Amino acid sequence: MSTPSASPSTAPSAAPVGPRPPRPDRRHRRSLAALTVLATLAVGCSALGGAPEQDAGRSSVPAAPPAVAAAEAQAGAQAAPAVQAAQAAQAAQAAQAALAAMPAARPQAATGQELNGRVSAAEHEAVVRQALAAAQRWGLAGLPLRAPAPPAVKPELADGPGVKRAAGLPPVVYRVPTSDRVIFLTVDDGAEKDPRFAAMAAELGVPMTAFLSDYLARSDYGYFRALQAHGVGIDNHTLTHPDLRRLGPDALQREICGQQDRLQQETGARPRLFRPPYGEYTEAALRTAASCGVTAVPLWNEEAFPDHLEWRYADQKFHPGDIVLTHFRAPAADWKGTMPDMLRRVVDAATAQGFAVARLEDYL
Ligand SMILES: [Zn+2]
Repeated sequence: MSTPSASPSTAPSAAPVGPRPPRPDRRHRRSLAALTVLATLAVGCSALGGAPEQDAGRSSVPAAPPAVAAAEAQAGAQAAPAVQAAQAAQAAQAAQAALAAMPAARPQAATGQELNGRVSAAEHEAVVRQALAAAQRWGLAGLPLRAPAPPAVKPELADGPGVKRAAGLPPVVYRVPTSDRVIFLTVDDGAEKDPRFAAMAAELGVPMTAFLSDYLARSDYGYFRALQAHGVGIDNHTLTHPDLRRLGPDALQREICGQQDRLQQETGARPRLFRPPYGEYTEAALRTAASCGVTAVPLWNEEAFPDHLEWRYADQKFHPGDIVLTHFRAPAADWKGTMPDMLRRVVDAATAQGFAVARLEDYL
């Protein structure tokens, strides 16, 4: 069952519909020529890319990225100028999306400059080539959208929809208050340490936050240090994953603050974020977490699996600021696929609904 959860017709890269564009002038024709180079490059990637990965349990063949479709359409030299202009707009969108897919480490400021043509065509082409190749290699239905620049000031976490806040306690957050069309991916526990998942996230530049429970993560903290090196936040999910509602003060201290110390030792950074196992917590648990450095408690609205998404709300859609839960898990009866299958499903659903995956730590 790998039917995509969103229709390609809702993809943001669909051809613009509107009044007939004006006949291109000379300057327009020049930029059109430049875009044709980009689009042609996209076709080259398509030819060079070879077959997409064959993951166990995957039965659908991904559609060509929008830039490839645009380029193929553009290859028809007989196309009318109006059609060409529409195709150029489409190719521009695809190029922008390609830039969006670059790893998070890429300086934000460079993107605008590149789109303004202030860097060399060769560099621009390399960026597009890399992004398209990564999207294609991992079987995405389209190019992921790039998250906007992080907010200059983090959103205020007042008690309200998506945030539960009591005086003196860290806020519990299901949805970050923001109008940015972003969602946040959070990956829990730490049992499965799939190197292909780490490679996929790094190559696509998809940010995420890992909430680690020591008893599962400790067999290889090196795996999580490698994720951290690619910008993944490493945060606290207790030492042994107990139901915190059953614990007294000493056990709360050991489970929560003990894992703060452990993660600081393993990663060099003391977590600021804490997720209680099962999403269950008490006031005493929040107070204990605050006492050892926790400033916010992210829970979740949606949950991602390799073969489906579970939605909090009846509209079955993401909302700006939604936190998405998933797990480091191996294929199993209730986990039908691989970690890359899960990531592909989340990114494709976000892209189809016009959302980018952003870094939770930039907002919380
Ligand atoms: Zn858990």
